Amino acid sequence: MKKIFAALALSLLPLPLVAAAPPSPVERMRDEALAGDKVAWDIVEDLTTEVGPRLAGTEAEARARQWAVKRLKALGFHNVHIEDATMATWVRGAETAEIVAPFPQRLVLTALGGSGATAADGLTADVVGFDSIDALRAAPADAVRGKIVFVGHAMQPNQDGSGYGYYGAVRRSAPAVGAQKGAVAVVIRSLGTDYHRNPHTGLTTWGGVTPIPAAALSIPDAENLQRMLKRAQRVTMHLTLTPRFLGDTPTGNVVADVPGTDPAAGMILVGGHLDSWDLGTGAIDDASGVAIVTAAAKRILDGPRPRRTIRVIWFGDEETGGAGSRAYFAAHRQDNVVFVGESDFGADRVWKFVPGFAEANKPLADRVAAALFPLGINLGRGEVEAGADLGAWVRAGAAGADLAQDGTRYFDYHHTPDDTLDKVDPARLRQNVAAWLAMLRLVADAPEPIAKLPPRPERRP
Ligand SMILES: [Zn+2]
Repeated sequence: MKKIFAALALSLLPLPLVAAAPPSPVERMRDEALAGDKVAWDIVEDLTTEVGPRLAGTEAEARARQWAVKRLKALGFHNVHIEDATMATWVRGAETAEIVAPFPQRLVLTALGGSGATAADGLTADVVGFDSIDALRAAPADAVRGKIVFVGHAMQPNQDGSGYGYYGAVRRSAPAVGAQKGAVAVVIRSLGTDYHRNPHTGLTTWGGVTPIPAAALSIPDAENLQRMLKRAQRVTMHLTLTPRFLGDTPTGNVVADVPGTDPAAGMILVGGHLDSWDLGTGAIDDASGVAIVTAAAKRILDGPRPRRTIRVIWFGDEETGGAGSRAYFAAHRQDNVVFVGESDFGADRVWKFVPGFAEANKPLADRVAAALFPLGINLGRGEVEAGADLGAWVRAGAAGADLAQDGTRYFDYHHTPDDTLDKVDPARLRQNVAAWLAMLRLVADAPEPIAKLPPRPERRP
């Protein structure tokens, strides 16, 4: 074996004599962003400090839009403006729970977005537990009627975050399933992967069923309740949730452009969402996303003018229904959009590039992949999603790409009071900016046309 290594070493010897090619302009821009971008960090720090939580449809989200306009204008973007939309708005109220019997103690929970309300003094009922939404679905209504339903699950952390799609049905749908069977309330194990005593909120959907009170227990509290259900024939809970529906209120998207030189070549849309859940300050979800795409676009704004216009959109109401992205798509569907991408999976490093180009544009996809490889980003394959806010465009046939962020720790903080600035790592944030910059620069300047793909239907999880 040693001889083989020696021979290999000899055969490699001439390599260092080959002079390295000087970095291309894209490589140089990428490496400068990786080493020194400050724009993204400043957006995350300033937005979470000066505005903080910004629940969709509320006065806080409106303040965030004004903040965004001011910041995007100060950065020098063109055509900075708000596009208004309207949404049905829900706001949190009081939220407390305690076990009345047989093991009296407080439980930590939070209402799910869209939850119905109890009376001001709460309700008291026996708890019936299920290990999964399928077990709840299979249960006879008699087992559920008049009870508080508890639903557990086995979500585990993973890099691609796919557990959220699968176990997410517990949050999205279990309350409606419980309501249809006559439950008086539904509490779930938080959709999270941490063991902090923080509940994870998030939207639940009713599909025409009248909302009942619906909440998520912190994972330690959910496991405590499971132990009680194993030990006692009867577990009784007192639950108070007083959220309110405010009716229709304003939301909106904030738009900013890097103008291109060739309008006929089509435009590029990149974005994240400006709204956040109300428990934390929305640092990883999604101040980081809007900051990453904006910082990348800003570096193009400050460099040679791109061939294609790059439009940055800070969407409203991603978390509670998607009124912002629907309004944007409806108002702009005639625009010649050739490429889209969204950053909305936290602030951890990008590990995978999933290109969604027509076959004719494989050389462009290959150039992007080559520029991303030195950032530690693998080439992946699969259907591009382009996030909740821009997915409609790829489904309608625009090319797009996902820069997949590492989701291993994302669901420790997601939709909790712990989604705060200190969870964002500046170096990983810069790696994101460098990746988006390299991709945007290459796609915006591509000399070849960017082809459309066949439209495809929306996949419902
Ligand atoms: Zn988000």
